[in-house]
Amino acid sequence: KVRVRFAPSPTGPLHLGGVRTALYDYLFAKNQGGEFVLRIEDTDTARYVEGAEEYIEEALEWCGIIPDESPKKGGKFAPYRQSERRDIYDKYTEQILKTDYAYIAFDTAEELDAIRAEYEAKGDVFSYDNKTRNRLRNSLALSEEEVQQLLDAKTPYVVRFKMPVDRTLGLVDIIRGNSAVNTDTLDDKVLVKNDGMPTYHFANIIDDHEMEISHVIRGEEWLPSLGLHTLLYEAMGWEAPQFAHLSLILKPEGKGKLSKRDGDKFGFPVFPLNFTDPATGHVSKGYRESGYLPEAFINMVALLGWSPADDKEILSLDEMVKEFDLHKVHKAGARFSKEKSEWFNHQYIQKTSDEELLNILKTSDLNLNMEDEKLLKIIHLMKERATFPKDIYENGKFFFEAPTSYDEKASKKAWNDETSNLLTEFAENLNSIDDFVSENIKQNLHDFAENKGLGMGKVMMPLRLALVGELKGPDVPDILELIGKEESVARISNAVN
Ligand code: GLU
Repeated sequence: KVRVRFAPSPTGPLHLGGVRTALYDYLFAKNQGGEFVLRIEDTDTARYVEGAEEYIEEALEWCGIIPDESPKKGGKFAPYRQSERRDIYDKYTEQILKTDYAYIAFDTAEELDAIRAEYEAKGDVFSYDNKTRNRLRNSLALSEEEVQQLLDAKTPYVVRFKMPVDRTLGLVDIIRGNSAVNTDTLDDKVLVKNDGMPTYHFANIIDDHEMEISHVIRGEEWLPSLGLHTLLYEAMGWEAPQFAHLSLILKPEGKGKLSKRDGDKFGFPVFPLNFTDPATGHVSKGYRESGYLPEAFINMVALLGWSPADDKEILSLDEMVKEFDLHKVHKAGARFSKEKSEWFNHQYIQKTSDEELLNILKTSDLNLNMEDEKLLKIIHLMKERATFPKDIYENGKFFFEAPTSYDEKASKKAWNDETSNLLTEFAENLNSIDDFVSENIKQNLHDFAENKGLGMGKVMMPLRLALVGELKGPDVPDILELIGKEESVARISNAVN
């Protein structure tokens, strides 16, 4: 049975990279008819950020990436918060200490700092590993009596992994293929801290085993830990899951990792939702609040590092599930593009019904005092050019209020000495139209221009300027119908005076 987990640490808001990991976890699990699990890895209390877990849950929900099991939802392997799984970890701490893969170490933080400083003074870097461990204060270097004395005196200790000497480990990754690492390049990582809580490495493999995870799909930053994780499974006598490490998301220039700070720096969101830093009150912009549709957002995220078979670009979540293939995930980093994000949103606005767009606009803080029927018509006319729902309002402001000024360049182009008389006459004409709908208006406009021996443009251009304030917007008869007879005549008379 395929079971895939997304295992974020609640150390801050989920960012683009995190969303992509969760999405690929989900797509792979669902493609294989399996389950998708959300597990919160909160054993590092020092890095815990208030509200981060809620943020992660809400962000996944907004994206439509719904876990089958999670802290909120529960499930067969609950609890799904590592801080609540201490009993389970205690049992396995005992187990690994009985093997030759772990030992206890009493070195204090001060002692380790001193050694580090000593190495640094020589221009070296200290590493707690299979070459240095014999000189340190641990159960491998001290006599049995010494260890017992320290334990009796309740001396705090940590549990460390005993990295084997000179073993070459074969590593298998679904995306990257095979590689190898020699254990002499790896250090003796802390598995259990002196408060008895496991570190990420130990808790992670215990939970993946306990929760029957079949595939671990995660960010490339965890690749250097794969050697240790492989050995931990060996130490525990467990079968390891399969691994796939996802490449980085790169800055728009293509150089360097897209960072959490790039959003503020370059003025585009890198988080799914707004996030307020509880320490500083600083608000980082989210896709949701910036006017992105969740379907557009996840479509954009999915294609950062994966292309479906026929290079199709617009895919719904269901279509992505059908087509997702881990073997087709790119090894190279994927370059983020703000323009591409906007392109996706524009595409999805076109796919969204006028009614739905109306709902979106109504939940925003825009001042739309107009009946729904008219608003729907405006949406219909304006969505073609909209990247964000609010563009419909902003590009169509003239539907809601009369222009207060006229674009200078446009005035030069559209206006001459005869224009005032012409439009005044046309306004009278408008008054004679009983059924004020765009077809009738168009016909009237046409006849008016013909009678005057003028091209349509000669009437249309100044008319547009009078109604809109500039030479843009949808067809003039459509504008006239929507703002209504009275308002149209008022705007014309305003413009000619
Ligand atoms: N808690 C780790 C993180 O925050 C999970 C890494 C993994 O998926 O193994 O990224």
